[in-house]
Amino acid sequence: MFETLKKIFKPSAETPAVQTVKPDISREKSAALYSKAKTYFPGGVNSPVRAFKSVYGTPLFIEKGDGCHLWDADGNHFIDFCCSWGPLILGHNHPEVREKVIATMHNGMSFGAPTALENELAELIISNNRFVEKIRFVSSGTEAVMSAIRLARGYTKRNKILKFEGCYHGHTDALLVKAGSGLVTFGETSSAGVPQAFVNETIVIALNDREALTKAFEEFKDQIAVVIIEPIPANNGLLLQDKAYLQFLREICTANGTLLLFDEVISGFRVGFEGAAGYYDIKPDILTYGKIIGGGLPVGCYGSSNEIMSIVSPDGGVYQGGTLSGNPVAMAAGIAQLSVLLQPGFYEELETVTNDFVECIQAYTQKKGYQFGVFKIGSIFWFAFTEKDKISRADEIDPASMEKFKKIHREMLNRGIYFGPSGYEVGFISSAHTPADLDKAKQAIFESLDIVFNEA
Ligand SMILES: *Cc1c(COP(=O)(O)O)cnc(C)c1O
Repeated sequence: MFETLKKIFKPSAETPAVQTVKPDISREKSAALYSKAKTYFPGGVNSPVRAFKSVYGTPLFIEKGDGCHLWDADGNHFIDFCCSWGPLILGHNHPEVREKVIATMHNGMSFGAPTALENELAELIISNNRFVEKIRFVSSGTEAVMSAIRLARGYTKRNKILKFEGCYHGHTDALLVKAGSGLVTFGETSSAGVPQAFVNETIVIALNDREALTKAFEEFKDQIAVVIIEPIPANNGLLLQDKAYLQFLREICTANGTLLLFDEVISGFRVGFEGAAGYYDIKPDILTYGKIIGGGLPVGCYGSSNEIMSIVSPDGGVYQGGTLSGNPVAMAAGIAQLSVLLQPGFYEELETVTNDFVECIQAYTQKKGYQFGVFKIGSIFWFAFTEKDKISRADEIDPASMEKFKKIHREMLNRGIYFGPSGYEVGFISSAHTPADLDKAKQAIFESLDIVFNEA
């Protein structure tokens, strides 16, 4: 189907000002799978954003991925910029990751007892990261954050936590909160089923706002166990923070005996092997990782100093465990992926490729006078339908702009470009995106932009 469409619509270097809307890709098989899935799972999915609620059409059921390429159940082909929401920094089905996983599986898949593979992955991480001395593996980002918060409370013997509007930390009860109205507020639950009593322990403020931060520490003096932040907030658009602000945050936490937790589930191993902590050269007290760390299999981890980690069970009184924690197959995938990331020049090259891609799109939209921005850091980028050249708080995103994302998402899919199905989600470049793939993608994105901006 995709092949025939491509023949009919041959992209040319000289993009005409007005594009014709292409017919939607065939989704017959995906639609059938989706209606079946709806009988098994709430909303037909095992994670809400996959349901395509914010974009057109039914979710695509993926059959296969290789490099930066994806194929769905109807045989449509896409260049993938979602990359499983970040983990696949080497692209799909990377030979080294795949072979190491297969080799490991020949020896069995889980023992519930220690294996050398856990040491190997820990060694790779700890010896190449100035910010953690000891870690604990878990099975997801959510679990890493949940455990890290308990650790912070156990260590400080305080209960309150402070988070920022526009940061996502997984689906832990205490963090499913959004800001109320006012500079410093207790959160309101953003999910049913979260007791108000939990939410009363969570303070929510806006990002990049020193006044709110200062006020929160005055109001809750000696009560805040931990401040949790995505140092590179990338789950609600890409809300880049000023380094000076992050430094200020570090200092105010230290001055108040509050721990600083960098949730690097998305930024860890992405903007560099040492993540955002290394990128900004700011040392948090606790870090959480996920996504990239498992090479596409479910792994999370939290880490800190020897001293703080010494209170985690069985050494100390903060309980945390997991039946499948440190699973050998998942460890193997992580070892293989992180080993590639440690090769000299890996991040520099990925960043150069991303810069070229982003600058080319920016140049095009500037030339055309479109109100559109591409924000980026490392190999993360975000398409924003805005005139602003800086967005660092959640409330600076215009919700109405998401209508435009909805349209461009459809046009891109119809041209073989796969993005996460929401305008609040970022895109990722992997080392598997070749210049030729990216050229193809740019052309398709230009055409899609033309349609969205030239519509009556
Ligand atoms: C993805 C993400 C999480 C949640 O991780 P899961 O593996 O989905 O549970 C937590 N924090 C951040 C910053 C994330 O990007």
